Amino acid sequence: MKKTVILLLAALILTGCSSIHSHSWEPANYQAPSTCSVCGQTQGVPLTADVEKYGIRVNPLTIDKEYAYHTVCSENDEPTEGKVSVSAYQVFDSDETHQGKNGYQWQILTLKLIIGDAASNQYGFRYNYVISDCFNIEAFTKAYRYDEEKGYNTFTVNWYGKESDDCHLRVICNNGEWIQRGELYYKNITITFEALLPEGYDGLIVGLRDSSVSTEEKYYLYQYYDENSFVLFRMGGQHD
Ligand SMILES: [Zn+2]
Repeated sequence: MKKTVILLLAALILTGCSSIHSHSWEPANYQAPSTCSVCGQTQGVPLTADVEKYGIRVNPLTIDKEYAYHTVCSENDEPTEGKVSVSAYQVFDSDETHQGKNGYQWQILTLKLIIGDAASNQYGFRYNYVISDCFNIEAFTKAYRYDEEKGYNTFTVNWYGKESDDCHLRVICNNGEWIQRGELYYKNITITFEALLPEGYDGLIVGLRDSSVSTEEKYYLYQYYDENSFVLFRMGGQHD
């Protein structure tokens, strides 16, 4: 008897979804395929992230793993080479100096750049940092602006189909001093990116661009990106 009841219940649950409702399809977003808001059924696949669409290489956050960074001298366009790594990465809700916001989290990443080859010793060097988004580069770039009153950059990201327009970002550069090491001098630069992002967001890109790459008349990262001139990291998600 008991078994029959359970079987009947199971049958009811299984057929429950076919009870008459016309699916109400929410459009696909970068995290989820098109989904029925009534029954949760999905169809298709999520939207393709721009980093995939344009072949932009983003490195995972492996702490202290060094990548070669190619740039140019400051007094001329002679090439110079350094090493860049992620020296720290933290995610937290709030602390004394970082006010929290409901549904948001702080993601703080520090890049370390070391340059000290003969060319940089003779002519100095330039570097440029990059901030962009894995999913929708155009939307990010259009929304990203410096708020003079607040003293930081504000922007919007789309996370599971919802516009989160209270994101901010502050960049702190510490350019250090020349330090002698044997015959040459080197500089140890740190660049800290402090971002307030929707909880769990894994799309913010930070990194460095070769200063000889021209961005004139170009607005979006995919318009001037080439693999050899950038070292980019993807914040959030999987990291060591
Ligand atoms: Zn449905």
